[in-house]
Amino acid sequence: MTDNHKRIPRVELPADARLDTLAVREGLPATQWGENSEALFLTSSFVHPDAATAAARFANEEEAFVYTRFTNPTTMMMERRLAALEGTEACIATSSGMSAILLLVMGLLKAGDHVVCSRSVFGSTIKLLAGEFAKFGVETSFVSQTDVGEWQRALKPNTKLLFAETPSNPLTEVCDIAALADIAHGAGALLAVDNCFCSPALQQPVKLGADLIIHSGTKYLDGQGRVVAGALCATEALIETKFVPVMRSAGMSLSPFNAWVVLKGLETLGVRMQAQSARTLEVARWLEQHPAVERVYYPGLASHPQHELAMRQQNGSGGAVVSFITRGEQQGGPELARQNAFHVIDQTRICSITSNLGDTKTTVTHPSSTSHGRLTEEQRRAAGITQGMIRVAVGLEDVQDLKADLARGLDTLAA
Ligand SMILES: *Cc1c(COP(=O)(O)O)cnc(C)c1O
Repeated sequence: MTDNHKRIPRVELPADARLDTLAVREGLPATQWGENSEALFLTSSFVHPDAATAAARFANEEEAFVYTRFTNPTTMMMERRLAALEGTEACIATSSGMSAILLLVMGLLKAGDHVVCSRSVFGSTIKLLAGEFAKFGVETSFVSQTDVGEWQRALKPNTKLLFAETPSNPLTEVCDIAALADIAHGAGALLAVDNCFCSPALQQPVKLGADLIIHSGTKYLDGQGRVVAGALCATEALIETKFVPVMRSAGMSLSPFNAWVVLKGLETLGVRMQAQSARTLEVARWLEQHPAVERVYYPGLASHPQHELAMRQQNGSGGAVVSFITRGEQQGGPELARQNAFHVIDQTRICSITSNLGDTKTTVTHPSSTSHGRLTEEQRRAAGITQGMIRVAVGLEDVQDLKADLARGLDTLAA
């Protein structure tokens, strides 16, 4: 970019503005009308004052809005805001979390390249890497979420990308972002982290050395379960040279309406994550002492195997997802364990029975028969996901009501 390259103006904020301030204020300056709440620009294209300006804009000599497949003011506000929260220079919004990963791989890799990825990442991520991208000659090795040595040993001369997601779903296993960043950089590769479960309000992977951040905006960024959205955050150089060209040609663009919903959702991200995590810790502690519960998985509990790492990495918070195993498997085997888990889920009256998460509405799900239902029983056992397991993504309802909702089924199992 030349020095006389004209840029879209920025909001004037103090250089040391903190996360909650950026979440409310970062974006674009208001229009000539001085609106206080961000405008929703539902327009597919933008008009140029004259042919010469249009030419300059198409030649990228002047940064301007041209066509919503690649730029839109509402979408840009969301991108700038999320980049500010993640502490990256830039961000590119995508139509879903999965299309952010699609953009990541299309922009960064070519046939013959190799990826190292945790075995515990989101199921569709595994399918995209191991299935779709294998067809195009990108090979992926899947390794342990928690054993750093396995990542190191999986490296090859053609390894270009390490991909991690932490904490994992539904076991909440935590991987060491700083250690993985060192391994990636030692091998001349980049580290991408799917930061969906913590969001930048709790965890900023770039501060720990990660190069690329993936988001499903569908979860905590929207925060109220309204839209499907995604984003990829990185340096301006990577976004401009690797990802904008792919977005322009491939068009996995986020709708401005959905960008606006996420933009406004980000304003409450900090308070939501704090409040939902605090409720989750209370639910997790209560579950841990319940006689019908065999084991609780939550990084905020001292009993969690990576508790200390999680507290360091996640700003002292466990996040808002807790999983637990109902008693029954040892006495009655998987069939009884499944019956017991279904009983607890079916006795709830407040929780929504759905696999989604990141909503103000608490959701409850049985991973073995839903998100992980396509695995064989053996694969599930190897992954530690048993028939008695229930996952709760805690929302903003009163925590006493949530405990009572889960107690309804659990108390009858304990009796
Ligand atoms: C939901 C989710 C995704 C996919 O996001 P979509 O917006 O549904 O495409 C990716 N990673 C994680 C960790 C998720 O939970």
